[in-house]
Amino acid sequence: MPLTVQPHRESLGLKTGLLYVDGQWGPAREGATWTHRHPASGEDVGEFAAAGRADVDDAVAAARRAFDSGEWPNSRAGVRIGVLHRYANLLREHADELRALQALDNSVPLSFGGIYATSVGAAADVFDHHAGWVDKVGGQTLPPYQGGDHLAATFREPIGVVAAILPWNAPFLLFAQKVAPALAAGCTVVLKPSEYATFAVLRMVELLAEAGLPAGALNVVTGTGEAVGEPLITHADVDKVSFTGSRAVGKRIVEASAGTLKRVSLELGGKSPAIVFGDAPNVGLAAATVTGAVTMGLSGQACVANTRALVQRDVYEEFIAAAQGMTAGITYGDPFDPGVISSPLINERQLERVLGYIETGKREARLVCGGERLEGDLAAGNFVAPTIFADVDNAATIAQEEIFGPVLAVVPFDDEEEAVRLANDTEYGLGAGLFTADVQRAFRVSRRLRVGTIGINGFQVEPHLPFGGFKQSGLGREGGRSAFEAYTELKTVMLPLTEEMM
Ligand code: NAD
Repeated sequence: MPLTVQPHRESLGLKTGLLYVDGQWGPAREGATWTHRHPASGEDVGEFAAAGRADVDDAVAAARRAFDSGEWPNSRAGVRIGVLHRYANLLREHADELRALQALDNSVPLSFGGIYATSVGAAADVFDHHAGWVDKVGGQTLPPYQGGDHLAATFREPIGVVAAILPWNAPFLLFAQKVAPALAAGCTVVLKPSEYATFAVLRMVELLAEAGLPAGALNVVTGTGEAVGEPLITHADVDKVSFTGSRAVGKRIVEASAGTLKRVSLELGGKSPAIVFGDAPNVGLAAATVTGAVTMGLSGQACVANTRALVQRDVYEEFIAAAQGMTAGITYGDPFDPGVISSPLINERQLERVLGYIETGKREARLVCGGERLEGDLAAGNFVAPTIFADVDNAATIAQEEIFGPVLAVVPFDDEEEAVRLANDTEYGLGAGLFTADVQRAFRVSRRLRVGTIGINGFQVEPHLPFGGFKQSGLGREGGRSAFEAYTELKTVMLPLTEEMM
């Protein structure tokens, strides 16, 4: 039977066609809407407001007023901490509802939506974590450097109005990684969710108001990158853009920021290597971990997935056999079915793109398994079979470009020196996985890799750990104290204590 998500749509009560500006829900000025098509069933799920420049102006003006003369930036630490912790608890209470809304948005299956890294629980923990910085991160008092007695103090002040732009693939966590530190620091926010993951984010915003956030401190404009994103990143009253998404849009944001020298944080794509050494404690488990991250859950549509497996020759065939075996157990279909563990690609454009890379891969390397679209009952969705290419040259297109689909490229290597060289031979630098039983080698190689995050025999997203990219994988870090500080400006104030300094 063809797949349908309509019964869930009816029971979930979607918030449709509305923006959230200055504490009020309302339609886009020009009344335009965008219809979201479900990636697994091809059905129209619902409409949300397609904002334009005038709506962005309204939202930025509301955030500006709330920053320049509103209560949030000047609120006492205890007030901010209270709102953020209350919100974290509300998120936990509504976790099941939010997970179901996400399944309607991006078709991430309920089974995967509960895995910590991308879960509502992780988002709640990020809010708790940043609430903890509110009364702990401040300035310093510093001694005089040269003649004359004076008191010098530094202050950390909120950076101002933040435009937070989200991708579609992990809306809970990425909403939290931006909104939590921005609000904790006392900034005000204009949020733009992805046009492919909007409904769950609107519900998250509704809960934030319920937690006690004052009007104007967070505003939401929904719609496309062109119609909403562009006016936001070029807006003179936006002080900072915090973006997670593709490298191409990241580059456009850097260009656009030059107009008013906006502060910019970028979390972009990757082509992260897993390096599997011959002495890996369990090659089969390493193959299952790497292949699982590229094929289960988000179906390879994850920034930090190890989509390039560099495997030492003595365990190369063992790795490929285990990786292929792993793909046999991946199930696709209705995201509400607890037995389904992977997703379709987010839209038809991405489906065509991934199938195009697969055709290139067939010319460049040896296809081990997959390599086609899934048909039959799944034909109306954007499903692609888990695909493994072996004997890939690291210079090949499929080893260099972010495919953002269920495609693993396996590259053989001979020794540690070659592994490090191949791992670093990419324009990206988001993450890496190492599989080895040799602790000294693990740290030696980790120090030489030009990437932001490394997992040695395993990896887990944590709310308090910095996360971000070297090279073209981004600018800045999310998570931890440095993420909070990235929403502040440092100010120095000096007071002479003797007449001769005046
Ligand atoms: P995308 O770049 O297409 O879109 C991201 C957001 O930018 C969307 O909200 C989109 O509407 C908006 N946008 C598009 N054009 C814009 C413009 N000109 N100005 C302003 N905003 C614009 O990315 P996507 O397909 O949603 O997400 C996939 C990408 O995100 C992948 O490259 C992935 O690696 C990356 N990603 C990175 C991380 C990380 O933490 N490093 C996490 C998740 C996803």
